[in-house]
Amino acid sequence: MKKIGFIGLGIMGKPMALNLLKAGYELTVYDIAPGRVDELVKAGARRGSSSKDVAARSEVVITMLPNSPHVREAVLGPNGVLDGAKPGTILVDMSSIAPLASKEIAAKAQEKGVAMLDAPVSGGEPKAVAGTLAIMVGGPQETFEQVKDILAKMGSSVTRVGEIGSGNVTKLANQIIVALNIAGMSEAMVLATKAGVDPEKVFQAIRGGLAGSAILDAKMPLALKGNFKPGFRIELHIKDLANALDTAHELGVPVPLSSVVMEIMQALKTDGKAANDHGGLIQFYEQLAKVEVRA
Ligand code: NAD
Repeated sequence: MKKIGFIGLGIMGKPMALNLLKAGYELTVYDIAPGRVDELVKAGARRGSSSKDVAARSEVVITMLPNSPHVREAVLGPNGVLDGAKPGTILVDMSSIAPLASKEIAAKAQEKGVAMLDAPVSGGEPKAVAGTLAIMVGGPQETFEQVKDILAKMGSSVTRVGEIGSGNVTKLANQIIVALNIAGMSEAMVLATKAGVDPEKVFQAIRGGLAGSAILDAKMPLALKGNFKPGFRIELHIKDLANALDTAHELGVPVPLSSVVMEIMQALKTDGKAANDHGGLIQFYEQLAKVEVRA
């Protein structure tokens, strides 16, 4: 399959689409923000006039959109993917959305002969640029086999975890772990700083031990500079935790720590910080303790 459509060219979608272009695929792109399409067309992509148009010109359609309503709109809405797709087209939704929404959209796609995978990613913009995302895939094995070479151009780890929806269940687990790690880092580092110990030295002293983590290595150097430019916006993490809480409650699974971090993020949103990187969660603790964790 050589003809790929890409819908949603934001922080993540743009570099992912660029990597597919670099790999030599014929790419048709669309975003509701026309400036984003212009950038990709300059880099060699074909301009799609709508999600329907992209689907009509592609064998595989990839979507990289904010949340469930945006994917529903782009796939099921008027001038959407299913209006343009021929039977046999494969839809790969790489957005992080509610697992139940993935299942509903896949069932509607199936009625039109379109097979769907949910394939959300972890790694953020730097790994999207480098083509080294972790991609977690749900959906039929045979559909996965047909597109796994394409996914491998965007990620260094591409894992099928189960049937449709399970990619997004895996992503919710990922987002709970990331949120709780950032909160733990923030609580600890604010305490150390207020106790009068240099937070840079605390970071260097502990990063090789059991408390060391990918989160600590990615977020602590930025916090020490007071750099909360996204990256991954707090508002998107709120969206993921809302999906995690809904899914957990539907299944009868209490998630007490996730709900606390959700409330911390809500407080930051009220404070005008929704567009900060999620590493900016440390500012909540800094305000409470009246101290700043800076090198
Ligand atoms: P973004 O807001 O930067 O980009 C989303 C793009 O979708 C925008 O360009 C927007 O104009 C476009 N769009 C919205 N509705 C549309 C529609 N109906 N039709 C066509 N285009 C539409 O978001 P992002 O940071 O690129 O995130 C995309 C997804 O990836 C989200 O689900 C997010 O949770 C997930 N994700 C993000 C990161 C990150 O670090 N940013 C990391 C992992 C996963």
